[in-house]
Amino acid sequence: MSTEPQGYETPVCGRFAPTPSGRMHLGNVWCALVAWLAVRSCGGELVLRIEDLDTKKTPAGSVEAMLDDLTWLGFDWDRGPVFQSERFDIYQAYYDRLVEMDLTYPCFCSRADLHVSEAPHASDGTPLYTGICRNLTAEQRAKKALERNPGTRLMVPVVSDPVGLIEFSDAVYGTKQECLAKECGDFLIRRSDGIFAYQLAVTVDDALMGVNQVVRGCDLLPSCARQIYIQHLLEFKTPWYAHVPMLLASDGSHRLSKREHSADLGYMRPLFGKPEILLGRLAYLTGLKDSPEPVSARELLEGFSWDTIRAHADLGIPVPDSFFEI
Ligand code: GLU
Repeated sequence: MSTEPQGYETPVCGRFAPTPSGRMHLGNVWCALVAWLAVRSCGGELVLRIEDLDTKKTPAGSVEAMLDDLTWLGFDWDRGPVFQSERFDIYQAYYDRLVEMDLTYPCFCSRADLHVSEAPHASDGTPLYTGICRNLTAEQRAKKALERNPGTRLMVPVVSDPVGLIEFSDAVYGTKQECLAKECGDFLIRRSDGIFAYQLAVTVDDALMGVNQVVRGCDLLPSCARQIYIQHLLEFKTPWYAHVPMLLASDGSHRLSKREHSADLGYMRPLFGKPEILLGRLAYLTGLKDSPEPVSARELLEGFSWDTIRAHADLGIPVPDSFFEI
């Protein structure tokens, strides 16, 4: 199946879809900045969607802190915040459609079953699902169900079926071709705890919210083919995609994460005092500007170009320790 590379569809509708798992860190700020610039530079509409599917993992106060951080940074949005935790009925309806298509089956595998070291892994590090539970008999399913609640997997076409060969174009990473059966295998659309999986929720949300421009971190590039497959099954349009290169730790060895406490906005806001100082440094680091002087998000609109973002596609962007020194 081929998804033709598309230009912008207008009017543009983009989204920023953070998971509220704690305070925002510099990596989130970077993705939010590019998503905001991408929409605002072409006069589009921006939806803010809070991806709190797993409410037990949403620390108290994290949504409020995130909204406050986004506002402090100078980002605005036109719709939302929309909370995924309030949309379970909607996901259920589309989940039921996939079940009715006879394309799903219950999976009783535990995390430990899947992470056996010899199992082949997809490029995002998740194990390739080899279909262990695909052909269980009704009796085997009933027996296993006494021990464990199953998740639900969506079957992907066999390797020889062109429907499972997903081709798409990413504005930063170019044309990609992925065979679902080789890349991930049958994947979860509902977890064993009953929570709808990210792949289903995000695909349904983007379609129903009219999102035609998806800008997000390149850690989600491997999810794209799965989401396009769901779009194909549910007859949704495929949005325009741009995956943003990651910010890395200073030695480039790993992605900047919560481990780097200095990259947390709870630390950086009092340190820098003004959002313009943080954004100026970030814009200089990433090549959006050629000097580190303070700048507002709005001032960065002029001259925003995907070529700048593309320049980092291969290597990512190491953040030197001096970034956090004032
Ligand atoms: N909620 C995801 C995150 O915070 C982003 C999902 C998406 O943009 O598709 O990493």
